[in-house]
Amino acid sequence: MKQLTWKDLPIGGVIVEPGNARKNLTGTWRTERPVIDQDACIRCRICWMYCPEPAILELKKPYTTKSGKKYDLTYEIDYDHCKGCGICAHECPVKAIKMVSEVVG
Ligand code: SF4
Ligand code: SF4
Repeated sequence: MKQLTWKDLPIGGVIVEPGNARKNLTGTWRTERPVIDQDACIRCRICWMYCPEPAILELKKPYTTKSGKKYDLTYEIDYDHCKGCGICAHECPVKAIKMVSEVVG
């Protein structure tokens, strides 16, 4: 039997292809999902800055709250990549983000 050397070992723990996070939907790890209350959100951008993925999307999407306040931006969650760590909910200064269980029933 041929003896293997270190050159024959498979590569481990190394990202060999660029951009592979687009293919790997890391949101499947999540047990809780963040949900943004768009009327409570004051568009401060803190969740966007703190998200480690980043899975907070800053969209140029106008939104008018029930009380008539108009915003040019809307913050939404990229659930394909959000891992449910809860940092965004913890850091939101107005508690506009709630973590809800992924498990239904
Ligand atoms: S729960 Fe974590 S990964 Fe998901 S959007 Fe919030 S900060 Fe980002
Ligand atoms: S941290 Fe809270 S208030 Fe600020 S943009 Fe995010 S959801 Fe909105």
